[in-house]
Amino acid sequence: MVSWRKTTNSKLIVALFCLAFSGCTFIIQNPAFAPPKSKKPNLFRGVYHVHTQYSHDSKAPLELVMETAQKAGLDFVVVTDHNNMNGANVYQDMNAPKPPLLVFGNEISTWHDGHLGALGIKETPPNTGETAKIVEFIHNQGGYAVPAHPDSKRKPWTNWNIENFDGLEIYSLSDIFYVDTFRLILKAFFFTPKHFLKSVLKTPEPALKLWDSQLLSGRRIAAFGSIDSHLKFRPLGRHIENLLLHFQAVTMYVLADELDEKKMIDALGHGRSFIAFEMRGIAQDFSFTAETNGESAGMGESVSAESAVRLMVKSPQEGTIRLIHNGRTIRETEGTALTYESSEPGFYRVEIDRGGEIWIISNPIYVTPQESS
Ligand SMILES: [Zn+2]
Ligand SMILES: [Zn+2]
Repeated sequence: MVSWRKTTNSKLIVALFCLAFSGCTFIIQNPAFAPPKSKKPNLFRGVYHVHTQYSHDSKAPLELVMETAQKAGLDFVVVTDHNNMNGANVYQDMNAPKPPLLVFGNEISTWHDGHLGALGIKETPPNTGETAKIVEFIHNQGGYAVPAHPDSKRKPWTNWNIENFDGLEIYSLSDIFYVDTFRLILKAFFFTPKHFLKSVLKTPEPALKLWDSQLLSGRRIAAFGSIDSHLKFRPLGRHIENLLLHFQAVTMYVLADELDEKKMIDALGHGRSFIAFEMRGIAQDFSFTAETNGESAGMGESVSAESAVRLMVKSPQEGTIRLIHNGRTIRETEGTALTYESSEPGFYRVEIDRGGEIWIISNPIYVTPQESS
């Protein structure tokens, strides 16, 4: 009897210790890491693809989204509710202080092809069975079409005949939650938020291959890292899920001269941005630039191959830096910098690993062929 009690007590102590140690990752909002202390000019830090109470499958009030973004030290949050823009008007009336700036897009459930992110639109596209018409509507409004979670097990994007989309989610946090839910819940009990994120966020190999194959067609396609965040439970008006865990999982850094809705959208739509998994280190000091005779370019931009182009990568901390040209690694180095000269046209992009897993993914710089005279 005594030994049974002893075993039960010791199991209880171990369980309590684990709970206290982990902060029960899914529930208690312990930050996984501290946000950057200083700010860099012309660089904004945010998250993409968040569902609020205006989605049928989320209960997150706008106030909670803003409060969580503040805790995560974010400048902006891109809200993409399902098939409606209802949150946008409410947000405008709130006249809330910025940052964080909420930017409203949409996630459209197409009839046959999967989910489509729409940025830079003023109203929700008509619910038509023809996805091409939806993309046309988005473009007519000056917006950007971004297939969501393209290789998800649950709701993949299936229509690759549509060739004029502008971006692609190359990472979607929601994908991992639907693949291995039981193991994730177990991990959440015993891992701290930082170690939990480190252990579940891996290099998205299939999506990177898919993106490369689309870029090889010669089109410019911006990469997006998505958190696809939903707040599922809110009993008695109190949330019990750790929304902060989502907001710290996948960061999007945007290059723009000010924190303005249109500027954020245009920079994201053109790929003037990079993606970071910051539980492996704050990424704001990353840069990827190109220089040639008097011309320079950053991510999402282009330079011509009139003469040799000097591509320069700076990593905020030691890591494995890979320079990728037209889908193939052309230089890999350990350290904090990489420089490479080339006059080969095509797309150049960068990946940096830390601890053997992905940390930073840049958008491409496009080197255009020398004009024939
Ligand atoms: Zn979706
Ligand atoms: Zn979604």
